[in-house]
Amino acid sequence: MDIATNSSSAASSNVDMADSNTSSLETVQTKPNGTASTNGSRENPIHSEEDAPRPKKKNRRKSTAHLKAVPETLSLREFIKADAEVFAKKLDKTHAFNRNDLEKWAREFLEQIDQPEKYLGYAMVMIGNYFWKKQFLATPFERRMLLLPHCLKHAEGCPAEYDDFGLDCEKCGACSIADYKVRADQLGYKVLVAEGSPIVLKIIVEGYVDGILGVACLNVLEKAIDKVLIAGVPSFAVPLHSGDCKNTSLDEAWVWEVLDKYEPIEEQETRSYIPLMRSSVDLFTNRFDELLPRVRSNTPEKAKSPLGLTEQVAFDWLANGGKRFRPFITLAAYDAATGGEIVNGRHDREQGVNFSPAVCKVAMAIEAFHKASLIHDDIQDNDLYRYGRETLHRTHGTGSAINIGDYLIGLGYRLVNESRSELGSDVACDILDSMAAAHIKLCDGQGAEMAWQAAPDWNMTPLDALQIYALKTSPAFEAALFSGIRMSGEIDAYREMIPQFCRQLGVGFQILNDLKDWRGDDDNKLVAGQDALALRPTVLLALALKSATEEQRKEIREIYESTGNDLMRIGKLRRIFTNCGAFETAEGLVEKSRERSEALADAVESDEIRQLLYFFVDSILSEEGEPTPLEQQQAAGSMLVSLPVIS
Ligand code: SF4
Repeated sequence: MDIATNSSSAASSNVDMADSNTSSLETVQTKPNGTASTNGSRENPIHSEEDAPRPKKKNRRKSTAHLKAVPETLSLREFIKADAEVFAKKLDKTHAFNRNDLEKWAREFLEQIDQPEKYLGYAMVMIGNYFWKKQFLATPFERRMLLLPHCLKHAEGCPAEYDDFGLDCEKCGACSIADYKVRADQLGYKVLVAEGSPIVLKIIVEGYVDGILGVACLNVLEKAIDKVLIAGVPSFAVPLHSGDCKNTSLDEAWVWEVLDKYEPIEEQETRSYIPLMRSSVDLFTNRFDELLPRVRSNTPEKAKSPLGLTEQVAFDWLANGGKRFRPFITLAAYDAATGGEIVNGRHDREQGVNFSPAVCKVAMAIEAFHKASLIHDDIQDNDLYRYGRETLHRTHGTGSAINIGDYLIGLGYRLVNESRSELGSDVACDILDSMAAAHIKLCDGQGAEMAWQAAPDWNMTPLDALQIYALKTSPAFEAALFSGIRMSGEIDAYREMIPQFCRQLGVGFQILNDLKDWRGDDDNKLVAGQDALALRPTVLLALALKSATEEQRKEIREIYESTGNDLMRIGKLRRIFTNCGAFETAEGLVEKSRERSEALADAVESDEIRQLLYFFVDSILSEEGEPTPLEQQQAAGSMLVSLPVIS
């Protein structure tokens, strides 16, 4: 929920990725008014013939604070809430909304009720609540999560301590957390006193909860939209009256309005990707041994022996760590190409999701290749951490790590081959071909990056950097998407679209990662600016070089080549990159990738596949919201290390 306004875009760029090779937009039919083709384009979710087509996404605003006011009086809050319930009744609920949908509805709603723009964030939360309320109330208590903010606690006297799951309330009674927690515990809720969508989504995907009742400030709710709601998780949120992070208050009756109500419904209303995400995780947990039985490490003794050790470490590396997003792409694409039974909840819920062994093995192969590439990449970049633990070459040595990476590549090909009898030779060969092509492109991209690192070319253009990105990041998405659709049998209609779409997705994703690198990444124990310290040819560097004065170019080069104090170097670089507009232009490039991938999705005829592509755009190219005041306070303690909210 990055609340954009209707103002014109902030970032401008004369760097156009489509100039590099085939323009992805060239293949998209456009209407006279410039909007994308309508053979099922992303429709306005409100059923009305007068409604205009969904607007293009706007560039990210720098500040949305002025759009996140909470109405001062209870009567006004109640008024907005009641009208939002009426407004939400006319929304099409077949698929989950994204931030643009929600913002558009909220603007329309505020206009209808004659309220100012400053309540935009609040209105978005209220409309979101009533979009989901029925489905949230149909979620059994024991499948719900109550998410409370630690800032509700009594700031001075609270005796509770933090653990991995947030604040461990001791129920002293000094604040309302105890009241909610006691009742929610009785009902069977999972209760979490923490902030941050990553841990929440992790708990959901791991299969523990199907619905969220959350109390949070508008800043935190803004962050939750992209990661949690677009996946199709029924949620109900009660906004805090302020985002001050200390002794905050809320409309308590609103929590009680839904906390202990359960109202079952017959059928799932809204498309949800959660069962597919869970299936993807399941491949590496519950179904792992069945799909990939151990041969040399099937007893603890054999696993420790020289002959069993490689399989043991490789399987451990494959089974642990990561979000399983690439195998999810494959499973979701297969489901979409075969009618969307699972995403629409038409499968037997009692039986759960049960893909055939061949489909599972192809999805696992995608993950095996991905994990192999990460091991080799970590060696080449000498990275210290991966998935919050030490990288494999640090724990087992470089030689062994290379060997494990090679093993996983072999394993991936074997997994595809094992699915040949079920899928047919043609299908298996096509999948192998797409994986091999992805592998080669990845090596080309990685090779180009290493060549640059060995002999930096200070005339590198943004296009050069984007081409490396297209080679390094997009092929994995492409192989995952291709494999999923190919397993359904039908592929000809998608042969051209898949690489174009994945190129936009991969490049946008990589630029977002670059921007994230300047905020640090607590998951992998990274501080900001690691790419620059590692002398990587990033698009941010290329953009800065392009706009820099001679003096700035000289300074950039000196900073990159020096070995002085890292914090000082990164501080100086940040200043130059900012002055050259590199961050802003990079954000503009992400926006372009988003627009182009959406346009490609618009042109897809199959509704299920088109909706899935939109979901990929929304989830892969989503921006994180502004830092909360807590994050800002924490970040203020260090110029360069960005500490995320407790997670
Ligand atoms: S009720 Fe729990 S969270 Fe609130 S002050 Fe007491 S121990 Fe802290």
